[in-house]
Amino acid sequence: MEYRRTAVIKLDTPEGADTHLRETVEQFQYCANTASEWCWHGDDGYHVTSKAKAEDALYDKLRADTGLTANLVQKGICQAVEAVKSGVERLKNDQDTSRPTFTADTAVYDKRSATFHRDHVSLSTPDGRIECGYILPDDTDTPPTKYVANEDYEFRRATLHQRDGDWYLHASMLKEDDDTEPTTGHKTVLGVDLGVNQLAVASTGRFWSADEFNHWKREYEKRRGDLQQCGTRAAHDVIAGVERKEDGRFEIFLHRVANEIVAEAVEHDCSHIVFEDLTDIRENVQEASWHHLWAFRRLYEYVEYKAREQGVEAVQVDPRNTSKRCSTCGFTHDDNRHSEDFECLDCGYQNHADYNAAKNIGLQYLRRRQNADDGGAPVDVRLNRGTLNVSGEYVPPASAVA
Ligand SMILES: [Zn+2]
Repeated sequence: MEYRRTAVIKLDTPEGADTHLRETVEQFQYCANTASEWCWHGDDGYHVTSKAKAEDALYDKLRADTGLTANLVQKGICQAVEAVKSGVERLKNDQDTSRPTFTADTAVYDKRSATFHRDHVSLSTPDGRIECGYILPDDTDTPPTKYVANEDYEFRRATLHQRDGDWYLHASMLKEDDDTEPTTGHKTVLGVDLGVNQLAVASTGRFWSADEFNHWKREYEKRRGDLQQCGTRAAHDVIAGVERKEDGRFEIFLHRVANEIVAEAVEHDCSHIVFEDLTDIRENVQEASWHHLWAFRRLYEYVEYKAREQGVEAVQVDPRNTSKRCSTCGFTHDDNRHSEDFECLDCGYQNHADYNAAKNIGLQYLRRRQNADDGGAPVDVRLNRGTLNVSGEYVPPASAVA
């Protein structure tokens, strides 16, 4: 069970801090407004609602234009993208709307740009870190003291505000009830994440690149395009020949990957190989072409029957949040992922985003199993030679290299 609270904390700012905090919120506003303007018009007349796209276009410029740290710049862009997204939703519903503008004196901090303590906070500004004390009522039974003083509530994020000349922190705090007891059962699964750059990534940390596949696909399309230009009967026959040959090539490649995935599962003594549900994979892997979708389905089929021969079962699970969730601490947020990089905003866990997703896919299956037939008894799962329990805590093996 999770409890989320917002604690509004008045700050006791040191001498001279005011100027730097003002600079911070002004530059943050500048980032958000610049990003909003860019996103609203897009680079081709369309609204941009992709954070990755906006960051690619604006990040370097905004870093150069401001003195803000990387994380604050990203948060400014993110704030704009979220606002543009809701603007686009309104447009879709024929509601009146215009480009979002930001006028409030605020800046959004997380654990990379701020360090939260129980009695003070260290905030990143263009002039370096500034430490501000908290002005809290003594009564520990009322907010915000009730939450700030309680170690069970953890600081997640905070927005810095200026109001009537005073500075405030609106801190998002979270308490999680530990309702999962340590391990009883024991199950080992191999999670597999599918994608267009890495065709497959296993929860053991093994990657199968899609480079070869993507290269053939491009060659194939080019060849086919050239031949279609000819338009003759002979060219038509050649196209059919090329298709057969290429399909054969793709299949050999997919057989090889399938064999290796199954071998990986056998080697790690896994009872199940877990894939994301392929029904909606078109939505989940948006960059995928029909070639990729074909390859994902074919790969699953191959793995399914090859695994069965080894006494291993292939299954599919709901992929919801598997790319945004931290496989170490369970914290789920859009901003945890930046294209191929995963960095948890909460615990700081960093890894390849697809590898993190593969671990989550394995865990997703175990959670489902736990709910379905183990009557809620917690299961323990070995992934990547370490242990992941169902609450998502990662316990490295004694011999693991950190
Ligand atoms: Zn985490």
